[in-house]
Order: sequence, then structure tokens, then C-alpha cells
Amino acid sequence: MNIPQTSFPRIVIIGGGFAGISLAKKLAKQEVQVVLLDKHNYHTFQPLLYQVSTGGLEPDSIAYPIRKVIKDFPNFYFRLASVNHIQTEDNLIHTNIGSLKYDHLVIATGSKTNFFGNKQVEANSMAMKTVPQSLNLRSLILENFEEALLTDDLNERNALMSFVIVGAGPTGVELAGALAEIKKGILPKDYPDLDTRQVQINLVQSGDRVLPTMSEKASLKAEMFLEKLGVNVWKNTRVTDYDGRTVTTNTDIEFKTATMVWAAGVKAADIPGIDATCLVDRSCRIKVDSFSKVQGYDNIFAVGDVAFMENEIFKYGHPMVAQVAIQQGKALGENLVKMIKGAKMIPFEYKDKGSMATIGRNKAVVDMKKLRFGGVFAWFIWMFVHLFFLIGFRNRMVVFINWVYNYVRFDREARLIIRPYKQKSAR
Ligand SMILES: Cc1cc2nc3c(=O)[nH]c(=O)nc-3n(C[C@H](O)[C@H](O)[C@H](O)COP(=O)(O)OP(=O)(O)OC[C@H]3O[C@@H](n4cnc5c(N)ncnc54)[C@H](O)[C@@H]3O)c2cc1C
Repeated sequence: MNIPQTSFPRIVIIGGGFAGISLAKKLAKQEVQVVLLDKHNYHTFQPLLYQVSTGGLEPDSIAYPIRKVIKDFPNFYFRLASVNHIQTEDNLIHTNIGSLKYDHLVIATGSKTNFFGNKQVEANSMAMKTVPQSLNLRSLILENFEEALLTDDLNERNALMSFVIVGAGPTGVELAGALAEIKKGILPKDYPDLDTRQVQINLVQSGDRVLPTMSEKASLKAEMFLEKLGVNVWKNTRVTDYDGRTVTTNTDIEFKTATMVWAAGVKAADIPGIDATCLVDRSCRIKVDSFSKVQGYDNIFAVGDVAFMENEIFKYGHPMVAQVAIQQGKALGENLVKMIKGAKMIPFEYKDKGSMATIGRNKAVVDMKKLRFGGVFAWFIWMFVHLFFLIGFRNRMVVFINWVYNYVRFDREARLIIRPYKQKSAR
């Protein structure tokens, strides 16, 4: 990998997401050598991926070069590499570009879509965890409308113009809301020769409310906003299969659609090599103590979505959200420096700043400690918070200008098929 051996201890960080980047920043001026590895050369701001999928933002406004983050940090090395295996007994990692020894290893690989073992659903549905996946979805949506224009078969046309989104967490709710706005504001203008009133947006949720991790008030308000926008919300309905055309559920309800988006679950992006007893069954998250140290290892740590840290308050682990990742990354940075200097480490304590979701223009819900509200003010807070946490001045400016433009013009100009999407399985 062409990394020099120095007298400083080597800390290898796998993953330049929220956790990996905030950890790296904490180590910037310390007497350590840091090697940051990621399979992408950019950091992805995942909360805005749905806006890329729906033509509201260009992908480069929510991605940021990792090399630029670390460019002024001495003793820092970035390598574009996919880590395949950890050989814990020899303090060695194996990647697609070679192997590397570490003194301390931090796993910050985040999570990936969980299809719960359903291969057919995995093959036929769309995920939205990465920039390329969001671009695939954007292309597919637009290609389907182009195809709908050409077919004489009414059933086929309706299937091409319907969407099923599985999972009514923030991702599902935000995507459904954005699609509903496209149906109202964009499609009638772009496709005047299609009856776009037939566009169906179905949001399917196995539980009894949308946004189940937020307050009941937020759930009710969000559902009301969705219904106002014309989204069909199907609660207590579990999707059981999808063959590329028909979505079956555990009830009598079936949907005919050419686009099913799977936003119903995630699991850790774990790397082989860590003792299986350290993994939590269903989610594959890695069990860590309150210092983010992986159980049974002295020099391996995990932070962010991939880590399972339980305590009195978070009996089922911390939530898999950006704030936890950022705070765990920072805390581990401080603790690693303490550990190397022989000082006492401080256990991690999550400061919950609240949660929020947007459903569309002027429509958002916010839960902040005891404050729970929705509507225009919540929407402004949502925008401010997302702009604040975006990395890079240019990205903030571009996103802000796009949002103002889209708001004033009721438009989404990034509705482009730049890279046509090829369906994984033939329909
Ligand atoms: C569509 C969507 C919307 C979301 N909305 C919100 C929201 O509104 N609010 C919120 O708080 N959270 C939201 N989240 C969750 C939030 O994005 C995650 O909790 C957060 O990204 C976790 O940070 P992380 O650093 O653990 O992982 P990530 O940010 O996912 O970073 C992991 C990094 O590891 C790299 N990597 C993975 N495996 C390997 C490997 N083997 N080798 C090399 N590199 C590897 C990846 O390329 C990636 O850069 C959303 C997530 C998604 C997908």
C-alpha cells in the first residue's frame, strides 16, 4: 500500500463515513500515523440521497472528497481500498490493493440494506444506500415514464407509473413525499400526453404507524401530510415477495409495479475475521463496550452503524443514525489519544439532539426532547440542520441554492437519465 513505517503507532480506520471522518478529525494533530481506507473516494451524506433519486439535487452536492478532508493533516494517508478480511491474530487487514499491519484498528464501515434473506426481493427491488444506487433509482423512475408513453397496454402503463416503497421510516417517508410532489408539479408538465393522475405512490409499513422511531404525534402528523400529498399509506402490511411486477404481502393486498424501493431494514457492513460471538444475530452489528472496544480484542474498535453498544438507556444498542456515528467517532478519537498516553478513557455517553423527517415542501416533523412539532417551522429547522451537517462550503451553497430554486420554481432540474439503469433481473 506504500505506507511508510514510522515510530508513531499506526491507527487504521476502515470507512470514511460520519464516524470515520469525525474520528479522523480528532486525530489530526496527534502523534499517530493514521491510515484511512474507503471503497469510495468520497464521503456520502446519506440523509439527502432521496433528493438525488428524485432529481432534486445532483449527486456531487452530497458527496465530498475524503482526500480533501485530510489534506492538511500530517501523518495521514488515504487509500481507495475495499477491506475484505481482518486477520486479528497478526494485526493485519487484507484489501483489494494489498495487506496492511495495524497497531490499532477502527471499523467504521456503516451498514447495508437488509433484505432479510429474500433473494427475489433483493434481485428485483431498488436500494438507496449509496450514490450509485440513488442514481440507478433516478434513472429507473424516468425510464419507466418514457416506457409508459410508448405502451398501449393499460395494465403495463399503470405498473410503470406506480411505486411501492417498503418501510415507513424517515427514508421511506421522505422518498414517498418527494415522489408525490413530482407527481403533482413535474410529471403533468413533462408528460402532457400521459394521464399522470394514474400515478400511484404506495408506502407499505409492517407496523401500525409511520416513523415508528419518532413520537406518536410526529407519526400522526407525518401520515396526515402524506395523505394530503396523495400517498397511499398501508400500515400493518408486510411485503412478502416481489417478482419485478407483482408485490405480494401477508394480506390480500397486491400491487402491480415496475418500481419497488426497499427501505425496510439495514444490517451492519461487517468484515469477515471478527469472532462470530462478537456479532449480534440479526443485524450483524459488532458488540462493543462503552469505549467502543470490540469484545475480546484489545486493539480493535468499532463505531457508528456497525457497532452495537448497549447500556441501561439503549438496551438494544444505540440507534443507527448520523448523530450517534459522529459522537462515537469523536469520543473514540479522544479516548485513543488517552489510551496511547496511558491516561484513563471516558465511557461514551450519547447526547440525543432529537430526530426529524421531512415529507415535502413546508412539511416536516421534529421531536426535540419534550418539544414535538410539525409544519413550516419544522421544515425550516430540518433544512438548517441538514445544511449545517453537510461537509464542505461548496456543497452547502449548492444545496441551499438548489432548494431555493426548487422552492420558488416548483422544479427539480436534475431529472436526467445520465447513466441508464439496467434492471438486474429480466422482468
Ligand atoms: C437513505 C438514508 C437516509 C438517512 N437519513 C438519515 C437522517 O435523516 N438522519 C440520520 O441521523 N441518519 C440518517 N441515515 C443514517 C445515517 O446515514 C447513518 O446512521 C450514518 O451514515 C452512519 O455513519 P457511519 O459512519 O457508521 O457509516 P457510513 O456513513 O455508512 O460510512 C461507512 C463508510 O464505510 C465504507 N465502507 C464500508 N465497507 C467497507 C469496506 N469493506 N472497505 C472499505 N470501506 C468500506 C463506505 O464506503 C462508507 O464510506 C440515513 C441513511 C440512509 C441510507
